[in-house]
Amino acid sequence: MTKHVFVTGGVASSLGKGISASSLGRLLKARGLRVTMQKLDPYINVDPGTMNPFEHGEVFVTDDGGETDLDLGHYERFIDENLSRASNATTGSIYSSVLAQERRGDYLGRTVQVIPHITDEIKRRIRALVAEDVDVVITEIGGTVGDIEILPFLEAIRQFRLDVGRDNVCYIHVTLVPFIGPSGEQKTKPTQHSVTELRSRGIQPDVIVCRSESPIGEGLKRKISSLCDVQPSGVVNAADAGNLYEVPLILHDEGFDAEVCQVLRLDAGEPDLTEWQALVDKIERAERSVRIGIIGKYVSLPDAYLSVVEATRHGGFHHGARVEIDWIQAEEVEGLLASSRLADLDGMVIPGGFGERGTEGKVAAARFSRENGIPCLGLCLGLQMMVVDYARNVLGLAGANSRELDPATPYPVIDLMDDQRDVTDKGGTMRLGAYVAELQPGSKVAEIYGRTVVSERHRHRYEFNPRLRHHFEGTTLRLSGESPDHRLVEFVELDDHPFWVATQAHPELKSRPNRAAPLFRELVGAALDRAEGRNPHLFDADAVDAAAVAAAAATPASA
Ligand code: GLN
Repeated sequence: MTKHVFVTGGVASSLGKGISASSLGRLLKARGLRVTMQKLDPYINVDPGTMNPFEHGEVFVTDDGGETDLDLGHYERFIDENLSRASNATTGSIYSSVLAQERRGDYLGRTVQVIPHITDEIKRRIRALVAEDVDVVITEIGGTVGDIEILPFLEAIRQFRLDVGRDNVCYIHVTLVPFIGPSGEQKTKPTQHSVTELRSRGIQPDVIVCRSESPIGEGLKRKISSLCDVQPSGVVNAADAGNLYEVPLILHDEGFDAEVCQVLRLDAGEPDLTEWQALVDKIERAERSVRIGIIGKYVSLPDAYLSVVEATRHGGFHHGARVEIDWIQAEEVEGLLASSRLADLDGMVIPGGFGERGTEGKVAAARFSRENGIPCLGLCLGLQMMVVDYARNVLGLAGANSRELDPATPYPVIDLMDDQRDVTDKGGTMRLGAYVAELQPGSKVAEIYGRTVVSERHRHRYEFNPRLRHHFEGTTLRLSGESPDHRLVEFVELDDHPFWVATQAHPELKSRPNRAAPLFRELVGAALDRAEGRNPHLFDADAVDAAAVAAAAATPASA
């Protein structure tokens, strides 16, 4: 019998509900249980694919091409399982299915209502994750108790306990216990209010996870227990942690997983946390450090690059190094070329993105890293801009660009494929999800991955243009990975450079804290070589100035 855990949040958003849920997933898995996870989002977009990263953070892509909430990234990183599109549903997608059924006449003339039709569909989405090989489904409800649009979700999970039986459901509520400066006290009132709100919807939490800046004392826990009618052992404290990956250990010490198992009558053994503890110890012991620049468009909202940051940190974990991220606004790169900001980097990542803004800065950053021996990893748009740099500045193809960014470019080195051009209204359809690539034997990427067939996730429309491929053949830019049918270029790398590697895919999405994505692991390795002087490429301000001037002159202003 599959058991269900429902995680709701109260008091404020961004409390780290996703991390609490993921940590529970890790702890249950460490007890030998088979766990899967899901996020139900009350917003109306059918999926986050169309949402601006400034608004919603990164879109996390699953193997099966689902464009999902970034919390799924936390789930995968913590429970170390690949999820699918079924692990994320929104109000929009739920209404879409119900409305489609209504149009088909499936409701036989009856009135279609939030209760029972929408709530039934929500329950169907939850049950969709139940399987023979799943012991526990953890379902996180997005938003905060008290939001108008969360009500059908609360009603659905309330009914769920009745449907599957009391001992098969555990309700967890994550709240905030703020510290009020002037009185010097931590306050439980917001938690009480939030639980009252939840109870008014018929849900009595079994466990309350109290987020706080500093640890809360036993007295306060007892108060929350008695006022919110939760067992004392069901009040667990998640005080701010130095690092995300420590949270499962903190919550375990608080008795979190033991309490959940008790509520669910799960008779699982003690968790084996040796591997996780070793990871956390390694992170804390890290003595080396590297500075990695992320050349992005959305740098004011780091959540827009959540998986890139995590993958880069995982690379650091592998080498026992702390990774300091320098957020560099792509539009500002050209102005920074003459300063030491870029030259001081030990490595850089040029991440993915859409639209023209900042792309010339990404090309300039690509050039700077190429000419100054700075390790550089390009992801999707990053690959595209590195290819543009090479085309313009090494091959002399003046005005080369991606057709997405300059439709009139004389050298569209990045373009839509022919079969995509038929659907140009929408700019072609996206290539989404996992695709296999074949790596050239003997190439850097084959060596890094340790094999020649790899699968990575994609989310893009434009590709390396096969029509202009002859310009690159036999040059130092090796087209080192291709789709099995050789139509698409998936990886490129520079031969005479410590690490100038790019992929059309998003390997950051598959990185795990104890198993860094290979390209990130090697980026950080190469950055450490630079930081620790094993591969010195000394900064020559005069040469850089000249390069900056030449770059500005050679770069056609595109629309
Ligand atoms: N905008 C580019 C494309 O559609 C790159 C997309 C990305 O970086 N995810 O091909």
